[in-house]
Amino acid sequence: MKAARIRNGDIGVEEVDDPQPGPDHAVVRVTAAGVCHSDLHLARGDWYGMRPEAVGHEAIGIVEELGPGAERFTAVGDRVILGLGGTGGGYWCGACEYCLNGQPRHCAQAKGVMGTFAERFAVYAPGLVKIPDSVPDTEAPLACGGLTAYGALKKLLQYDIKPGRPIAIVGAAGGLGHYAIQLASAFGYRVVGVDVGDERLEFIRSLGAEVAVSADEAAAVVAQQFGGVDAVLVFAARVAGYELGLNLLRKGGLFVGVGLPPTSDGNFQIDPFRFFINDYRIIFSAVGTVQDMRELVELAAAGKVKTHVDRTGALSELSTIFDELSAAKYLGRAVITDLGA
Ligand SMILES: [Zn+2]
Ligand SMILES: [Zn+2]
Repeated sequence: MKAARIRNGDIGVEEVDDPQPGPDHAVVRVTAAGVCHSDLHLARGDWYGMRPEAVGHEAIGIVEELGPGAERFTAVGDRVILGLGGTGGGYWCGACEYCLNGQPRHCAQAKGVMGTFAERFAVYAPGLVKIPDSVPDTEAPLACGGLTAYGALKKLLQYDIKPGRPIAIVGAAGGLGHYAIQLASAFGYRVVGVDVGDERLEFIRSLGAEVAVSADEAAAVVAQQFGGVDAVLVFAARVAGYELGLNLLRKGGLFVGVGLPPTSDGNFQIDPFRFFINDYRIIFSAVGTVQDMRELVELAAAGKVKTHVDRTGALSELSTIFDELSAAKYLGRAVITDLGA
C-alpha cells in the first residue's frame, strides 16, 4: 500500500507492507486524513527535535479487518473516526487510576496514534467511534483538532465556569481555535476571539464570536468591555500567545494552555507575585476522551460544529500542503481525501 514517510525532514510517498491487525486492533481503510499542525511540527523537528518516520493522526475510514477480540468494539464495514487524537489514542490499559479517571493519555502504557497518511491503518479498536453518513469525510480533522478544542472547553465546566460568562480564545481563527469559537458560542459563553489580520477577525465573527479583536488591542478591549474574562483558552502555538492570554484574565480566572509552541520559542514565565495577587488557576488540556469524541460526533451531526476546509488533496500532494501550511496560505484545514494517489 501507499504511505507517507519522513526522510531527512522531507515527506514523501512510499510503497510499504499492509498493516496486520493485532489483538483488539482493527485495520481501517483510510478515506480521509486531516493535516494537523502537529504533523508539520514533528516533520520539522520543532519539538525537542522529535522526528517520527510516520505522521498523521486524524482519520475517517471504513473498518476492513479485525484482529482477535476487536469484534467486541467494531465491525467490518463500519464507517468510523479515530477517537483519541495523537496523544494516547494508540493504546491505553483501561484499568489504571489515570484511565479510570478519564485521563488515558497519562496511562503508563499509553501509545500514540501516528501514521494515518496511508491507505490502511491498524488501530486499537476501543478508540474507534462510528459516524453517521451526514458527517462527511472532510470532517476528519475533528479526530484531533476538533476533539482538542472540545476537550479544552469541557474543562470550563469542570472548573465551574458557566455558560453566560465571558471567555477568550487566543488563536481563534486557527485549526483548533475555529472549532472552539463555534462550540463555545453553541454552549452559550460570551466569546472573545483573538487573532491577527482583518480576514481572520472577519472569519471569527462569522463563526459566532461576540467580539473579534486583534492581539495587540485584546488586553485593552477585554479590560474595558468585561473587566477581564473568566477563562482564556490559548490555542496559538507561540509563547507570545500564552503571555497575552494571562493578560486577559480577571482575578481568579482559569488559564487553559492548549497550543504547543516550538521549543525554540523558550519558556512561558510567571512572576510569583503576580500569581499571588491574581490567584490564577493554570491548567493544560490535551485532546480528549473517546466519550468526548462520541459527543463531538453528535454535535457535528446536529450542525453545531463544522470543519472549515480550505484545501483537499491527494497523498502525493502532502509535501506541498506542508509548505503551504507553514507559509499560512489558508485559514482553515487541509484534508487528504485520496490516499491511493
Ligand atoms: Zn491505564
Ligand atoms: Zn493533531
